[in-house]
Order: sequence, then structure tokens, then C-alpha cells
Amino acid sequence: MGFFRRERIEGKTVDQVRRMRVAGLLVAQTLDLLAASVRPGMTTKELDTLAEEHIRSGGGVPSFLGYHGFKGTICTSVNEEIVHGIPGTRVLAEGDLLSIDCGAVVDGWHGDAAISLIVGGREAGRAEDLDLIDATEASLYAGVAALRVGQPLYDVGAAVEDEVDAAGRRDGRTYGIVEDYVGHGIGTAMHMDPQVPNYRCREKGPVVTEGTTIAIEPMVTLGDQANTVLDDDWTVVTLDKSRAAHWEHSVAATSQGLWILTALDGGESKLAEVGAPFAPLD
Ligand code: MG
Ligand code: MG
Repeated sequence: MGFFRRERIEGKTVDQVRRMRVAGLLVAQTLDLLAASVRPGMTTKELDTLAEEHIRSGGGVPSFLGYHGFKGTICTSVNEEIVHGIPGTRVLAEGDLLSIDCGAVVDGWHGDAAISLIVGGREAGRAEDLDLIDATEASLYAGVAALRVGQPLYDVGAAVEDEVDAAGRRDGRTYGIVEDYVGHGIGTAMHMDPQVPNYRCREKGPVVTEGTTIAIEPMVTLGDQANTVLDDDWTVVTLDKSRAAHWEHSVAATSQGLWILTALDGGESKLAEVGAPFAPLD
């Protein structure tokens, strides 16, 4: 799509946002289950099976499965893999940096979220990987906090970039923000207009309207952000083999504030931490 086109965001009604929360909560619960279940020695396919069973038993359908031919319910991206890793026979090792991306559709409405973690728990992680995971997560919430009705959408990416830069200064590292993959509108389809860059743009983007629902999903690396797609046509890896993290939430904005549709608590705790208004519609 025309990236710098000034477009209008199609806001959702309260009822539509509530329906998206059903899908978002199912995604949140699925990711929570996967984070609690992952162990060294598991294959990524075993995680995928857990995810599919949980989504289907919750009345949802995995939205990634069959998406442009994708063969998984989740994306499992390990170490230098940034996004779109295909679940399979890979055995997870203690200390691996694993990003899990998950999407579900319930009654026609979508949820989409991602987490990053260390296989075997944080104590098994390299210091730089823990810093990267935390910096990326912090940048997600900084981006979420910048989403305001009446404000330019690209304030989100500017806030993500500022937080990544600030984290880099705190951590004494230079992080790379992946620019080739961006967030997106979400609703009756997983990927909808508008795109949501994770970096500062010269353009302001469209104005955020009442009932805007978007997925914000920063991808950050320990090295350069340059990347390529493997021969499987899906897995995106860093060219310099540096590790990457990915965090994502689907978020609804109203004039009252924000509702993180893919957070178990709707975002109440994290929004409080970043000083953004929590405005659930349930
Ligand atoms: Mg996703
Ligand atoms: Mg997404």
C-alpha cells in the first residue's frame, strides 16, 4: 500500500471492540500457556500443537494456519530469527531466545500478539539477551502509550524508537530496530490498513480515530537490523546473525484511553507503569 498516503482509520464500535477482546483474550491465554509450558528439549512443533489445541478448545481458529500457505498456528523464531519462523522438528535448547507470535480469530474478529522469552527461564539467558528482550518489551509499551485518539498514528513509532534508544543508552548497547516489518490495523482480518512503523517517520500518518484497533509489534536486534528470508520462504533472520526479540499487542484506542486486547488484564498493570489511561470497554 501507499505507505505515506494520508488515509483515514476505520474505527470500531464498542460492540466490535468487545468482540475483538474475545479473540485477543484467547491469544493472551494461549501465549501464557506456551510461556509456562516451554522447556529445553521440546520441539517448536510441540509448542505449536499446544497452541492449536488451546485456540480450538477456546472456540477460536488459528489465523496463521494456512495464511499464504503458512504451516503453523504460531510462529517460533529462535535466536537470530526475527519473525515468521515455522514450527517443526527444531529442538529448543536452554538459553535459546524464543519469540512466539500467535493469532486467533473468533466469530470473524482477530487477535494478534507476540512474546519473547528465554528457554529454561531468565536465569538461563545471556545478559545481552535479557537486556534485548526487556528493551523490546519496553518499546512496545512506549508505543502503546503513544496511541491517542486525535493524535498522529506515527507518534507510536517515534515512541518505540525513542524507547529503544533510551534502553540502549541504559544498557550500553546499540540496538537495531527492524524496519522491513511493521505493525498493522486489525479487525475482521489480521492484517489491515494502516501500517504502523516502529520508527520515527517524517510523515505523521493518519489521525487516530475513536475505536482504532491496531497491532503494535517492534522487532529489535542486538546488532544490525538488516535481514533476509531463508529458503523456507518464511523465516526472517538477521544478516549479521545477531539475536532478535519481538513483542506485540493488539490495542484499542478510544477517547477514554486504551484497552490492550491481547493482555490477560487488558493492559491495566503495564499501562499504569507507563502512565497511560486504561479504558476497558467490558
Ligand atoms: Mg503477530
Ligand atoms: Mg501482527
